Amino acid sequence: MPSKDLNRAYDKPAPGGRVTLVGAGPGAVDLITVRGQKVLSEADVVVYDDLANADLLEVCPAAIERIYVGKRAGRHGATQAEIGAILVREASKNLHVVRLKGGDPLVFGRGGEEEQVLADAGIPFEIVPGVTAAVAAGAVTGIPLTHRRHASAVVFVTGHECSGKPGDALVDWPALARTRATLCIYMGVRRLGEIAAELLAGGLPGTTPVAVVANATMPNQSVHIGELESAETLTAALQGQPALIIVGEVVRLSEILAQARSALVELPA
Ligand code: SAH
Repeated sequence: MPSKDLNRAYDKPAPGGRVTLVGAGPGAVDLITVRGQKVLSEADVVVYDDLANADLLEVCPAAIERIYVGKRAGRHGATQAEIGAILVREASKNLHVVRLKGGDPLVFGRGGEEEQVLADAGIPFEIVPGVTAAVAAGAVTGIPLTHRRHASAVVFVTGHECSGKPGDALVDWPALARTRATLCIYMGVRRLGEIAAELLAGGLPGTTPVAVVANATMPNQSVHIGELESAETLTAALQGQPALIIVGEVVRLSEILAQARSALVELPA
């Protein structure tokens, strides 16, 4: 099918139940897209978890059902299979289900698994993209992820290995080190020490700058900058918080550019 037709299909209201996976963005309530906000305001039911800012739910019609599937406050949280079953069950009631997910739904968000479940059940779905954490972390620190004099590639990589992938796909950190790409590491707080050791083994200098951005775009945002050889110390106080780690020469530019940015009274929360 030509892509033109695909685009036309995107906005057409589908008959009966359907699901829209909406990227909520990194946290700040005004970093959801206009399309995402519109879809939320028209939802019949919303399914959400922890990374989506709870204030976004105020955009939904007041009377609709809000189904929480996260792990907050010691609750064990729904499994991925349960979440898939909830989406299918609600859409089968002829409802428009909005599945609100932090950042972008298809970047380390298991959106792919949800798409698969919906496709298998024959339920139409669409995706509204969101600002992913790596892009948000670059923006709030002023780190140009692909400044053309320092990096011509950027890698989104998980620091938390998921076992059971085909071929038991482990991240080849030394190989990534050799690319000299800017590395944006999701879910890496707990393993940063080991990751840094592997990147050093791959030939990255110990003086390579590293930035850790916790709670990017939220009022409790914090930024920690250091060097690869002592990177572990940057995350010592951040266990349990969402944080994005940026490794690469481009991190150095944040300090230079910060001087200009400090002319702003306050960074937007
Ligand atoms: N789909 C999401 C990622 C989900 S994985 C996205 O596109 O952003 C969860 C990881 O994302 C966290 O462990 C953290 O590494 C990162 N993350 C999400 N929100 C973040 C934020 N506001 N600040 C820093 N990192 C964040």
